[in-house]
Amino acid sequence: MSGPLLKVENLTKHYPLGAGFLKKTIPVVRAVADVSFSVAAGETLCIVGESGCGKSTVARLLMRLVKPTSGRVLIDETDIAVLKAHELRAWRRRMQMVFQDPYSSLNPRLTAGQIITEPVENWERLSRKQRKALAAELLRKVGMSPQMMDRLPSELSGGQRQRLGIARALALNPSLIIADEAVSALDVSVQAQILNLLLDLQQQIGIAFIFISHDLSVVEHIGHRVAVMYLGRIVELAACEALFANPVHPYTEALIAAAPVPDPTRVRLEAPVQGEVPSPINPPSGCAFHPRCPHAVNRCRIDVPRLVPMADGRAVACHVRAPDTDFPAQPSATATRSLTAG
Ligand code: SF4
Repeated sequence: MSGPLLKVENLTKHYPLGAGFLKKTIPVVRAVADVSFSVAAGETLCIVGESGCGKSTVARLLMRLVKPTSGRVLIDETDIAVLKAHELRAWRRRMQMVFQDPYSSLNPRLTAGQIITEPVENWERLSRKQRKALAAELLRKVGMSPQMMDRLPSELSGGQRQRLGIARALALNPSLIIADEAVSALDVSVQAQILNLLLDLQQQIGIAFIFISHDLSVVEHIGHRVAVMYLGRIVELAACEALFANPVHPYTEALIAAAPVPDPTRVRLEAPVQGEVPSPINPPSGCAFHPRCPHAVNRCRIDVPRLVPMADGRAVACHVRAPDTDFPAQPSATATRSLTAG
């Protein structure tokens, strides 16, 4: 793998609730807060977390389907977060997206061949012969027969529709595909076929993936590195093997412990955490995980933990498991007073 293809720096997205007329402060949904990571060419970075943790908002921010509140998204040193619509068009070729529900993301009135060639025809005129040749080539690439190019999405199975979605994403030769819960709507056997197809494509053409999923077994199968998100922030970023063998952040530990274990010889780590994910409108102070964390200390209720690099190359945001030596180990006098008062 070479240097970073994509670099995300301090990405933040707040959604204001209402116009705030006559109100002094407008409540905001803090969907994504201070998220930073990079993706190398040919790498698969998985983003995991419970529903509402902000992982799909990160995907939309990377595709610039929504504008960030702050932060940078760099491709080849160009910040696409600030580009104007006409400048953005060229960069969109580099990144494509595969969605969770293949049926609703495919135009039901177009044939498979038209769906695949449509993105290319937005850029250049193709003759009938070129269109057919391109559709046949891309269908073959995703393991489908070129004879299916005249079929409508309604005439295809769920797995075939997802293959078609991948073929469409490949049409513009992107460097990176963002797959948002791309296999969650499929049967387990079809899931495996699609995951193997993605792995094959990566080996053949060196494409990078950002794979967003709530399913840890899928992530373990496909990821090189994993970013674990909780309430809009990355709490642990590690190589896939290291994360599953030895989760460091208490939330990662709980997620892995809560995941179904298909291997009866594998021992569960400890009981999963209790309680619901708090609202992103009014997140808990300090570490947002503190109301659910069995290891919380006073400082956790005050300071937001920073992602701290660890000796094995991972980064963890936790005052207890990865203390940040740039900050005082004990809460300040003022903070201690406010805690005692609260
Ligand atoms: Fe738990 Fe504190 Fe670590 Fe947050 S910072 S995960 S509350 S120990």
